[in-house]
Amino acid sequence: MAKYIFITGGVVSSLGKGLASAALGALLQARGYSVRLRKLDPYLNVDPGTMSPFEHGEVFVTDDGAETDLDLGHYERFTGVAATNTDSISSGRIYSTVLEKERRGDYLGRTIQVIPHVTDEIKEFLKINEADVDFMLCEIGGTVGDIEGLPFFEAIRQFGQDKPRGECIYVHLTLLPYITASGELKTKPTQHSVKELRSIGIAPDVLVCRSERPIPKKEREKLALFCNVRSDCVISAQDLKSIYEAPLAYHREGLDQAVLDAFGISPAPQPNLKRWEDVYDRIFNAEGELKVAIVGKYTQLEDAYKSVAEALTHAGIANRVKIKISWVDAEAFDLTPAEPFLEGFDAILVPGGFGERGTEGMIKAARFARERNIPYLGICLGMQMAVVEASRNLAKIKNAGSEEFENKKKKNRFTHVVYHLKEWVQGNSKVKRKEHDNKGGTMRLGAYNAKLKLGSKAAQIYDNLLIEERHRHRYEVDINYRTELEKLGLIFSGMSPDDLLPEIIELKDHPWFIGVQFHPELKSKPFNPHPLFSDFIKTTKMISRLV
Ligand code: GLN
Repeated sequence: MAKYIFITGGVVSSLGKGLASAALGALLQARGYSVRLRKLDPYLNVDPGTMSPFEHGEVFVTDDGAETDLDLGHYERFTGVAATNTDSISSGRIYSTVLEKERRGDYLGRTIQVIPHVTDEIKEFLKINEADVDFMLCEIGGTVGDIEGLPFFEAIRQFGQDKPRGECIYVHLTLLPYITASGELKTKPTQHSVKELRSIGIAPDVLVCRSERPIPKKEREKLALFCNVRSDCVISAQDLKSIYEAPLAYHREGLDQAVLDAFGISPAPQPNLKRWEDVYDRIFNAEGELKVAIVGKYTQLEDAYKSVAEALTHAGIANRVKIKISWVDAEAFDLTPAEPFLEGFDAILVPGGFGERGTEGMIKAARFARERNIPYLGICLGMQMAVVEASRNLAKIKNAGSEEFENKKKKNRFTHVVYHLKEWVQGNSKVKRKEHDNKGGTMRLGAYNAKLKLGSKAAQIYDNLLIEERHRHRYEVDINYRTELEKLGLIFSGMSPDDLLPEIIELKDHPWFIGVQFHPELKSKPFNPHPLFSDFIKTTKMISRLV
């Protein structure tokens, strides 16, 4: 049966609770334990699938097709444990389950209340598959004191009472601001936040304090005294140059030891941190720098492409090279020449996206990369736009475009080389979608197989002819254009098992030009980079003569 670690946050948001949880998960693994990480989000959306990337950053898709919070990406990247549908729980999902049960009559006419009905539902979610791992790490989104978060805090308080003594601990992450005028790290906001937590019945066992500077002994003792934790349970979390330093840094500060002590696990197994030492060595002893342009539409908020940026970093780690990412807004050259925006990069990546805005710029970026022999990786929309580009400029298909960009007012502006997919095969069954289905969860989502063409670059990179990758899209490249495009050098090197849906395209006479309908970035890890990303950077490094 799993032991539970609840991770809460105080003082301000964006302190890196997700990263701290992920790093703690990695440290427990390093000591030989199995872990699973879960995220409890107080917002009322059923899942982040319909939220704007500007609001919420990237939507992380799991193998089983759940659209989840981006923190699940950190969890996977640090632990290698594939997240599932039940690892991301929002208030919206909890309430809709409770209301469904109420309508079905499951509560036998009782009055439905936050306590116990909502809190019970949260606890049920927390317990799913608890027998499978040694530690279940559950992060509560938001900060203590938020109105929406209260049912979750109440549920985890009750959870600790329901379990036998010593089976649950609480880790609280706060901020110690540095006041330049007085030259001091201030403990008061943390004291207040712990007071708030204790007022709702949760006494933290471990405090993780984010700060710009080391915590002096005096402040550490003060925090221990006023917040009622042991002084070796006040863990300093200073800002780091790379997030992948976090497991080593937290271990140095004693986080994993403090957690195991809080559970009374003694003697604790020694950690094996080789994996993280190797990653550290590769990051901090890189052999040069490559400039990669990410040409997308949500470039103002880097979190919108979190996994893409991380996967590039992993590819850099694999090739011992630093990746300098430039965020290029595709819309900036929708109507003007692209050259001034794209000159000087070693490689170009066009990531996923929705809607027409910026797509003319992406098409220009694909053309620029194709004509100038610059390595190009197109992901989902980035593949679709590469096909549109080749259709327009190689196959001379007039007005080639995607059905996604038509709208009611201006119909049939494009020849649809990319069309709206309404029926496809998943495993042994058929999935069907109608034009006006709800927006939430109606895409082709989650893991699907693809067959690779023998002798293609894709097959060589994967070193396999059958792959499985995660999807999140509504539109699909039309295979009716395959023969024509292949004659012109755009090879369809990956196909769905039924041969109907193009999964990978590549240019024959180009150093590295690949488009994929899926999201390889979601499966990349710092210690196990995705082969497409590492090969993309390997070739870029070679072309840029860094080797
Ligand atoms: N908007 C495109 C589609 O739905 C691409 C989606 C994506 O890039 N994830 O097919």
